[in-house]
Amino acid sequence: MENNETKRSGGISVDTEHIFPIIKKWLYSEKDIFLREIVSNATDAITKLKRLASLGQYEGDDTPYRIDVILDKTAKTLTVSDNGIGMSAEEVERYICSIALSGALEFIQKYETGDDEGAGKSGIIGHFGLGFYSAFMVSETVELHTKSFTDAPAVHWVCSDAGSYEIDDSDKATHGTDVVMHISDAESEYLNADKIREMLDKYCSFMPVEIYFTDADAEEEEVPPAEEGEETPASSPTPINDVAPLWQKTPSECTDEEYKEFYRKVFRDYKEPLFQIHLNADYPLNFRGILYFPRFENEYESIEGQVKLYYNQVFVADNIKEVIPEYLLMLKGVLDCPELPLNVSRSYLQSNSYVAKVSAHIVKKVADKLNSLCNTDRENYERVWDNIRAFVEYACMKDRKFYDRVKKSILLRLTDGSHVTLTEYLETAKETNENVVYYATDTDLQAQYIRVFREQNINVAVFPQLIDTQFATLLENYNEGVKFVRVDADIASAMKADGEIVENDEMVTLFRKISGNDTLEVKFDNLKTEVPAFLNITEESRRMEEMMRMYQMGGGDFAFPLEMSLVLNTASPLYEKLTALLPSDADKAETIANYIYKLSLLSQRKLSAEEMEAFLKDGFHILGLL
Ligand code: ADP
Repeated sequence: MENNETKRSGGISVDTEHIFPIIKKWLYSEKDIFLREIVSNATDAITKLKRLASLGQYEGDDTPYRIDVILDKTAKTLTVSDNGIGMSAEEVERYICSIALSGALEFIQKYETGDDEGAGKSGIIGHFGLGFYSAFMVSETVELHTKSFTDAPAVHWVCSDAGSYEIDDSDKATHGTDVVMHISDAESEYLNADKIREMLDKYCSFMPVEIYFTDADAEEEEVPPAEEGEETPASSPTPINDVAPLWQKTPSECTDEEYKEFYRKVFRDYKEPLFQIHLNADYPLNFRGILYFPRFENEYESIEGQVKLYYNQVFVADNIKEVIPEYLLMLKGVLDCPELPLNVSRSYLQSNSYVAKVSAHIVKKVADKLNSLCNTDRENYERVWDNIRAFVEYACMKDRKFYDRVKKSILLRLTDGSHVTLTEYLETAKETNENVVYYATDTDLQAQYIRVFREQNINVAVFPQLIDTQFATLLENYNEGVKFVRVDADIASAMKADGEIVENDEMVTLFRKISGNDTLEVKFDNLKTEVPAFLNITEESRRMEEMMRMYQMGGGDFAFPLEMSLVLNTASPLYEKLTALLPSDADKAETIANYIYKLSLLSQRKLSAEEMEAFLKDGFHILGLL
């Protein structure tokens, strides 16, 4: 290799006619990743040299290891430069000129026949060691200046996007590699400094070697020293990345403040997360990560999380639902799985047993965290419960295993603001309402019912969202014998008074007339309250109606649920007066009955504008009867 007239040329020793068009065409949608590929090669080159140094096979010098990304708009180049292991001419031939394509050609042929649809345009890169060649997605020519850490002479390699290359000597004096990408005219967006910064930020923020970005043009223009808060100066004096991200640390060494700071930085979310789980799985799973519970909005549909997947600190992708269950994607966090290939196709992930184990492990850890908070930090757990409730309910609905793990830590919020578990609720309810959980969906609207139950020391849970009632159905299915009943569905049984019940057919006729529903079921009961009438909607039919609303089957307006009945309280003094009006004063009886009916309706739902107007008018009319 000591020959100075080593100028050689050749063609990349795979069917280049196949490879290059594919690189340029098929990988189109994920072009940005070329920078990740080239920078992670640079990282690898440095890691290798560090390893050799630690093995005593390389003496080293004092130069700190670093990677420089240099943008030169004038020269139309983007250069990635490392001071890593470098390559000899022989190694360039071996590693760069012949793409290791044992399985790749086959894959490409399949690709061209469209066989493996969706194997992922990204699946090809990395998977087959084409990482370096991704540079051709944006370059018309790629040049290498590389010098091995051994005393082999430096090498200059240049390759056009047609696949023909030349090798000759380089005057590079220090070990390492410069990859000079001559950006093609069609891809000039990659000559934009902001674009490059954004890509570095996305893919390289946590790579393990310091990366510096230089915008050569901005430097030449001699930018005045930046004032505070102004744009970043041309050449950043600080690396763009954090070489030791928090997830790599031992959990016991991390402070709460560090977790919060990391969250702010990575997710640019200034709302503090509720708590986090630091994942640290050793052999054989071998992955790390931090999952944060953000403050969830109450409707689960609007919850949008973000879980970033890394491979040895190199960003791979967001929200890979093959790696963690979809419902956990509502969390925000980072996962570093060095056991996964950097670029893998989705179908590969789906069928991979390692991935399934990682996923199961994460589910277990999330459940463990909820259980440990509930058991050891109950006060705090209760405080965050209302924020995570929708998440937990949704997760339980999606995954029975998750439910089984967390079932003892599911809380019910009561109307007085306190929280109990289902078991605790049922324990208290033993004497009064065995196996029945009373709940309210609107504490204002249902206040009078809630009061009745509270007066008898019966607890009422608050279920303000549609998902809560769906969840109640799930709890009924999983807990045999337990029933959830809304406070207004079973008012009679909660307030039963002694005494004989006298039914009255005239009242039945009257209320049927008023309601405009001549099949309205009218019941009579003796109740411990002055309220003369209640509208009862059965739990089943109301849940049906809610389901329909959930799936947008009905309109937005209140549609009368199927099973509704009117309960007249024969023990109420007002009811007594009303019956006394008949038959002599039928008009007055109708006016008053109508008003009573409207009042019972009012406790079920909000009145429409028209109804409200009529309601007020009737009210004043009744006062006029004084
Ligand atoms: P992979 O990184 O998956 O092996 P690449 O096509 O990206 O595939 O690179 C092929 C090989 O070229 C690498 O394995 C490495 O030996 C060599 N190589 C690439 N970039 C560098 C670099 N910056 N320094 C030293 N060697 C490199």
